[in-house]
Amino acid sequence: MPYALTITHLYPDHLNLYGDTGNLIVLRRRCQWLGIDCTVKSLTMGEVAHSGQTDLYFMGGGQDTDQVAVVNDFHQLKYEAIRADTEAGVVFLGVCGGYQLMGHTFLMGNGDETRGLGIINVSTRAPGTDVKQRCIGNLIVELDATTYAAMQTMYATPRAIPRTLVGFENHSGQTHLGDGVEPLAKTIAGFGNNGAAEYEGARYKNVFGSYMHGSLLPKNPHFADYLLWLALGRKYPETPIALAALPDTEEWAAHDYVVQRYG
Ligand code: GLN
Repeated sequence: MPYALTITHLYPDHLNLYGDTGNLIVLRRRCQWLGIDCTVKSLTMGEVAHSGQTDLYFMGGGQDTDQVAVVNDFHQLKYEAIRADTEAGVVFLGVCGGYQLMGHTFLMGNGDETRGLGIINVSTRAPGTDVKQRCIGNLIVELDATTYAAMQTMYATPRAIPRTLVGFENHSGQTHLGDGVEPLAKTIAGFGNNGAAEYEGARYKNVFGSYMHGSLLPKNPHFADYLLWLALGRKYPETPIALAALPDTEEWAAHDYVVQRYG
């Protein structure tokens, strides 16, 4: 049976820093290579979300002002449907500003506190507008043990995959995880969630937040496959999903270069 996935890009015209849209290009292309019929839709200001119509949501990063601009629209037109989907296990990936927005509150660099989207139990504070306090640079992290173990079962034939993710961070916000939310990874190089926590990103059900721009998925093909595998597993629960291992020569070269240079 041919598989099909619908991917929804939230606010692509407002939240797209440092090439975050590259993540969508990767998901679409990998679906094509893997024989998965993939439809990518955008859902932006003024458009109503309906639950049960998307297998994977993506939301990129943005400046503080871009983040604030979408909050009311989200609560009025999208919150109930997307919250119902994520509670039911639909995959969601938010990067940097998109990750911060997914939480309950977001304190901007200018000190204003804003209500977040309330998708996961995290909150973000900004230390100030002093650029020296920004978290900027290459980020190398080690995936949490449960996620990494699950990733190793997703291919039809056994394949060695690294436990690392690599990316580039640039944020002032410091994110703290609340009850029920696990870190996505442990920080090896860079800051991640905040200067003190030594962890990067968050996971709640199939909702993932990460500070990794770069973009994230081109240099981390195992994580891209993992998101697709989770989405397929949820959509086709009767069929065990086993992905073909794509060659990914350039992708691993890019990944390994960052690990060797900054690890
Ligand atoms: N505006 C947020 C911050 O600086 C997020 C920036 C981003 O998405 N890179 O903390």
